[in-house]
Amino acid sequence: MHVIVLGAGVVGVAAAWYLREAGCEVTVVEAREGPGLETSFANGGHLSAASGPWAAPDVPGKLIRWIGREDAPLLLRLRWDTALIRWGVRFLANCTEARYAANTEAIGALCRLSAAETMALRDRLGIADETNSAGVLTIYTTEKEFAGAEAKRARFAEAGIAAEVVDRAGLARIEPALEQAAPRYVGGLFAADTETSDCHLFTTGLAAEAARAGVAFRYGTRVAAVTVETGRATGVALADGGTIAADAVVLAAGSWSPVLARGLGLRVPVYPGKGYSVTVPIAGRNGAPRMAVVDEHAKLYIARFADRLRVAGTLELAGWDKTPSPARQAATLAKMRALFPDGGDYAQAAHWTGLRPMTPDGRPLLGPTSIPGLWLDTGHGPLGWTMACGSGRLLAEMLTGRTAAIDPAPYALARF
Ligand SMILES: Cc1cc2nc3c(=O)[nH]c(=O)nc-3n(C[C@H](O)[C@H](O)[C@H](O)COP(=O)(O)OP(=O)(O)OC[C@H]3O[C@@H](n4cnc5c(N)ncnc54)[C@H](O)[C@@H]3O)c2cc1C
Repeated sequence: MHVIVLGAGVVGVAAAWYLREAGCEVTVVEAREGPGLETSFANGGHLSAASGPWAAPDVPGKLIRWIGREDAPLLLRLRWDTALIRWGVRFLANCTEARYAANTEAIGALCRLSAAETMALRDRLGIADETNSAGVLTIYTTEKEFAGAEAKRARFAEAGIAAEVVDRAGLARIEPALEQAAPRYVGGLFAADTETSDCHLFTTGLAAEAARAGVAFRYGTRVAAVTVETGRATGVALADGGTIAADAVVLAAGSWSPVLARGLGLRVPVYPGKGYSVTVPIAGRNGAPRMAVVDEHAKLYIARFADRLRVAGTLELAGWDKTPSPARQAATLAKMRALFPDGGDYAQAAHWTGLRPMTPDGRPLLGPTSIPGLWLDTGHGPLGWTMACGSGRLLAEMLTGRTAAIDPAPYALARF
């Protein structure tokens, strides 16, 4: 069976790998000049086995307070955009306690499968992605947020990861680089057995291994449309006028998946959530953290790679335009600097923006569509690095008629 995977972000490359392992002939078609150059390029790098969705019970209230605040963790730019309105209504409907619990469970099951799958694959293939295994320390600004540490600890426990709740005094003991900032926080949660690594390095390494295993990569090749004949997906039409025929097409085009699906009359409820990251060289500074740090209040994810420190986060709902807001860039950098004043060479900060493919409930879209032969592996939102390998495995199992590792029903398009 010949399968086209549309998109070579971390999600598409992982899907290609597992489809090839399952015996398919695979062609990956990617508009950019290499793998992982869009949203998979400079993300937070956290393999998060215990994260929940953005749509949470406390978010509607916060959203109203955050409107117009350039440094808000979630910024809604008010504009007439029917895709955003439709998506936003569904997002708000997912902010109830019951929906939050169900979504957290579904996301958790896939994150657990996927994080384990990623680490196993990296070790087996020897992919050098600057893994940092020093653990993740989540820090809390308010007592109310700190009260949620216990629920997060329980989610870590479900993933088989021991985590310890620590008070303010414990923060600098666990991560000495937090010594100056620690008094501004009330406590933390430390998970020693968790990792961060560079998603782009992993994607590039896995693409090279997949190519060696026989996957064909067509870079610099934009898909204009998925071709459908007598109601069945038959391949892709390229922007340069060519076509590629296939038995199945997997839409793994991240935030651009709904744009391609729209041409087929298929509604894929994915909206781009613009995020920012800043990477600085550590350059011999003594104040860089050893481990990864999550600032729960600011929703910032800090990762230490070999000789670089990165802060990533914030969500801006403003369409497909990747133009950064200078105020948001400055705020992100300032928060990193406030946490780690001597953490790196801030004069050499490299700024980046990426568009997270967000579904309203935070669960990705995996599986068949109403068009036979067209499959989805998209909508991974803020957790695409964590969920890519597990999603690729599940997709390949479904597409080739094997027993799926976990129940794929919670990720079906049919839920919308
Ligand atoms: C600031 C930020 C921080 C993040 N931090 C984390 C984190 O710490 N942990 C985590 O798990 N996740 C994180 N994420 C989320 C993660 O980066 C994404 O979920 C993931 O990269 C999505 O991968 P993808 O392959 O679906 O999309 P992409 O990487 O965007 O890949 C889609 C590909 O499709 C291609 N494409 C689109 N249209 C076409 C077309 N017409 N023809 C051909 N090719 C096309 C694009 O060029 C692109 O390469 C973060 C995201 C951001 C923005």
